[in-house]
Amino acid sequence: MSTPCQSNDVLAQVADIPAVDRLLKQAEIAALIEQHGHQLVTQQLRQMLNQLRQLALAQQLPLAQLEPAALVERFSAQLSAHVQPKLRSMINLTGTVLHTNLGRALLPDEAIQSVVTALKTPSNLEFDIRTGKRGDRDDLVEALICELTGAEAATVVNNNAAAVLLMLGTMATDKEVIVSRGELVEIGGAFRIPDIMKRAGAQLVEVGTTNRTHAHDYEDAITENTSMLMKVHCSNYAVMGFTKEVSLQEMVQIGRQHGIPTTVDLGSGTLVNLAQWGLPDEPTVRQTIEAGADVVTFSGDKLLGGPQAGIIVGRKDYIQAIKKNPLKRALRVGKLTLAALEPVLALYRSPERLAERLTTLRLLTRPQHEMKQQADVLLPCLQQQVGADYQVEAEPMLSQIGSGAMPIDVLPSYGLTVRYVGSGRAGSAIMKIEQWLRGLARPVIGRIHHDTLYLDLRCLSADDLAYLQALWSDSLA
Ligand SMILES: *Cc1c(COP(=O)(O)O)cnc(C)c1O
Repeated sequence: MSTPCQSNDVLAQVADIPAVDRLLKQAEIAALIEQHGHQLVTQQLRQMLNQLRQLALAQQLPLAQLEPAALVERFSAQLSAHVQPKLRSMINLTGTVLHTNLGRALLPDEAIQSVVTALKTPSNLEFDIRTGKRGDRDDLVEALICELTGAEAATVVNNNAAAVLLMLGTMATDKEVIVSRGELVEIGGAFRIPDIMKRAGAQLVEVGTTNRTHAHDYEDAITENTSMLMKVHCSNYAVMGFTKEVSLQEMVQIGRQHGIPTTVDLGSGTLVNLAQWGLPDEPTVRQTIEAGADVVTFSGDKLLGGPQAGIIVGRKDYIQAIKKNPLKRALRVGKLTLAALEPVLALYRSPERLAERLTTLRLLTRPQHEMKQQADVLLPCLQQQVGADYQVEAEPMLSQIGSGAMPIDVLPSYGLTVRYVGSGRAGSAIMKIEQWLRGLARPVIGRIHHDTLYLDLRCLSADDLAYLQALWSDSLA
């Protein structure tokens, strides 16, 4: 934080900077010690005085900044910035419901309560209550996952990337894996099918072309050393136009003819048919198992609406082998994940109530009029905050599911737009508003498109709305 100094400012010398001891005696600093402890306050004070020394040496420190009141103010701002938690609660108005950078799925109350209990009390994480003997943590959710997917067996790891790595590392090390060129996905955050394949010690055999792959492409590529045919769900892109994809059923048939398994990286992994809520159709895990896939992997925190996790389901012998792989121990989930996952999965037992109980689905199916109501409430508050150089309007807009789920499908939504109507440059004027919103105690994140700031209210909870209303009417007073 350098301070621009005017030529008529008297610049401080290093010798003008007070000693730590003198500052520690000030009443305001004593109050900070009361709150944060002596050690942290002295350490932070030393750090600030060092910074001031550097500024003085660089002839950039006006003497006025060494006034006691200025020093205390600077220090207290520095200290509160230092102790502010790094993980912050935010308000997601990006219009992307499952936003990877904002933590993906929000969890329902059942999961939150279960995590709180698991945090506070011992639990049977690896303890068989019936026999009193050691248990397996997978047992907490395996039967439930099988019930919901029709699979024979299941296991859970840290995320879907880990699930794919473990699956390949168990079934395909030193062997070939046949994948269509149209499915060599890169997911954000550096997950790429060819790279994960290499790390698992498997050899990728690409077949077909980007837009067209035929059944004979798979057949022709099968050798003695083929471990599996693998299908990867094109989560975050769509190949359109002159295309041909081999269906999972066909792949399974080819695989069976040659005695090799077919595996599927499903990505999102939804457990119910979303079309019943007017959402785009995605293959469910059950359909994938029914189509004959031997092993299927999917994420816990995408469309499933649970905690970050990777779920592997499929044939018992393969899942057994996966569980025995030493990598499984390295990639296993903690109790908080399992505490959150079980109640989320349990909600799927009553699909008719899912849209009200599962937070992700509730957000994805939110009626537009609800968001419009919020927009009407928020509009005058925001307009007053941004001033007459900007125009705030309530408008219909389109949200995305996100997290690579159904990349081209968009949901009718409602929100606020902010446009610059002043006389300067619109681009930087809009960025100023974006920065101001991002700088709030609970940062508000929207999206800018063509010099317009879009604040999509799909993910604005009643609490969020109350927070913003209070914040913006307070500062009006
Ligand atoms: C999202 C996704 C992954 C990665 O899953 P994470 O749970 O983020 O590790 C892998 N494959 C596909 C097809 C995906 O969509």
